[in-house]
Amino acid sequence: MSTPSDSQRMEKIVSLCKRRGFIFQSSEIYGGLNGLWDYGPLGVELKRNLKNYWWRVTVHERDDVVGMDGSILMNRAVWKASGHEDTFSDPMVDCRSCKARLRADQIINKKGEKQCPVCGGKDLTEPRSFNLMFKTYVGATEDESSVTYLRPETAQAIFVQFKNILDVSRKKLPFGIAQIGKAFRNEINPRNFTFRSREFEQMELEYFCRAEEGMKLLEYWKEERLKFYENIGIARDKLQVLTVPDEERAFYSKGTYDIEYDFPFGRQELEGVAYRTDYDLSQHQKASGKSLEYFDEETKQKFIPHVVEPSAGVDRTVLALICEAYSEDEAPDDKGKMETRIVLRFHPRMAPVKCAVFPLLKNKEQLVAKAKEIVDLLRPHLFVFYDESGAIGRRYRRQDEIGTPFGITVDFETLGEKDATLRDTVTLRERDSMKQERVAIKDLANILISRIS
Ligand code: ATP
Repeated sequence: MSTPSDSQRMEKIVSLCKRRGFIFQSSEIYGGLNGLWDYGPLGVELKRNLKNYWWRVTVHERDDVVGMDGSILMNRAVWKASGHEDTFSDPMVDCRSCKARLRADQIINKKGEKQCPVCGGKDLTEPRSFNLMFKTYVGATEDESSVTYLRPETAQAIFVQFKNILDVSRKKLPFGIAQIGKAFRNEINPRNFTFRSREFEQMELEYFCRAEEGMKLLEYWKEERLKFYENIGIARDKLQVLTVPDEERAFYSKGTYDIEYDFPFGRQELEGVAYRTDYDLSQHQKASGKSLEYFDEETKQKFIPHVVEPSAGVDRTVLALICEAYSEDEAPDDKGKMETRIVLRFHPRMAPVKCAVFPLLKNKEQLVAKAKEIVDLLRPHLFVFYDESGAIGRRYRRQDEIGTPFGITVDFETLGEKDATLRDTVTLRERDSMKQERVAIKDLANILISRIS
């Protein structure tokens, strides 16, 4: 079978996302709003599975990390101290011919002459700074005193709560604070489906340490994060670690890696892992006048901890999971004729629906009753989907297309009509190999739980 080109592949993925309810355009019935997306019934499950797994390995399975959930709106002083109000901007260029507003790095440079990538025009303005934060007003008056911003990253809430969390958790260095939440950036040019959005979610860990541990922990967290991606089903050879060169790194960072993924539209950043030194806490200590120091009981020293930050995007990872999972192969239809099968080969841990349950025929009361019994048996353990409509092959195909890793069929053998030894057994079908095995109903929950995690 011919393999689709990367742009065809991306088109198919976007169309599948809409068709099956993973991702819709925000406010679609009003023509949408650029750079904003809604997750449908399957998208929200995929996203939750990703966030829950991140939380599990980052917080629950470690003694040295605690969680928090900060507010989206914070005192404007936070954004002044962090540097976002003055410097969180992209240089923009306007094309006077077609009126396009473009990021300076998108301008084409042809033999030293600058050109608009939209119309090819050469009448361009000088680059001007454009702040990416969404401004808003808190309270009834809309004046300078009530201005603040929708947070462009979740990290600052962690820094400004550092002291409170240190006091209540009584952790010793090194330790981390983790958070998952929404962030907003007025991106000039949202593109590549959800990859560059104006509203998105981040999964951020601020891992505080002593200065001398910083570089070592940067390596440690880069490796931990690579393992994470492998554990959610993103092949190692599709990931690339870029060492951000000195001139592109934030001035306070002593080392930054970008973990990139080979999307159909090119190699792009999924996550940044940065050693940010003591910059953030120092800035907030200076601006707030409150001590953000750590007291080392052994050495009796007081100092501002350094921090290593793995900062991942939920939406970009969801998109990578979908791109990685999308595949087409061939499988026989109900009449044995080969047809193209679309399969999302999600890792079972990430799959939105873990298992589908089918009675072979919907008009056979006993089959339906047994299938519903199985659904009730499995529901406390995993997300199960019941489907009785259409030919069995079609039902399998619908589940393959949304990446359901297991399918259970209740047939006449289950009722013990042909062979009493098969009573209360079902066929368990695996999505990728399409192999079927006969399994006792009482063993189903254990088998599925062990194969999913
Ligand atoms: P980029 O260079 O792609 O704009 P960034 O380096 O500005 O990203 P960070 O500030 O390091 O990104 O944010 C950490 C993570 O948050 C990114 O790795 C990405 O996964 C996610 N993220 C940042 N901006 C967006 C966006 N506009 N849409 C979706 N996810 C984003």
